[in-house]
Amino acid sequence: CENLPVPITFDDLRTEVLSCTRCPLAGTRTNVVFGVGDPNADLMFVGEAPGAEEDKKGEPFVGRSGQLLDRLMAEEMGMQRKDVYIANVLKCRPPGNRDPHPTEIATCRPYLAQQVDTKDGIRKVRGRVYPFLGRSVIVPTYHPAAALRGGGEVLAEMRADFVRAKQELARR
Ligand code: URA
Repeated sequence: CENLPVPITFDDLRTEVLSCTRCPLAGTRTNVVFGVGDPNADLMFVGEAPGAEEDKKGEPFVGRSGQLLDRLMAEEMGMQRKDVYIANVLKCRPPGNRDPHPTEIATCRPYLAQQVDTKDGIRKVRGRVYPFLGRSVIVPTYHPAAALRGGGEVLAEMRADFVRAKQELARR
């Protein structure tokens, strides 16, 4: 995203956001509210901004709204916090729960964009073989463009994945 170094991992992004001072909300917050749940989940809830309880605990949707959110997720979807990802447009509480300013939304936006577009997915799933439809397997690996961008380490991991695929062929 523009104006932000692209973090290598989701943890890098979290570390960066937790010490963010890109807007004046940094001066009034108690805690940065980054997000909670599984960053690789298929479903993400995005709230507007942390409230008082969230600011105190550093976690999104922990007040009454959060209890209702949890209840609806459980009753209607059979899902818990660990099954989804929850974050806000703004990572810091606007004083008095006022509406976010357009400038605050714009400043915080690259963080949300990167939370949605996490690079963690392929990094997490690659490195092993997954059974698929009974007699097939999937061997996840990077897009070649990632190796062109990412250099030696990504390329080495791709090579290992290709060897994995070849071993699977040999077993058949
Ligand atoms: N409302 C929001 O939009 N976000 C929270 O984290 C809590 C309440």
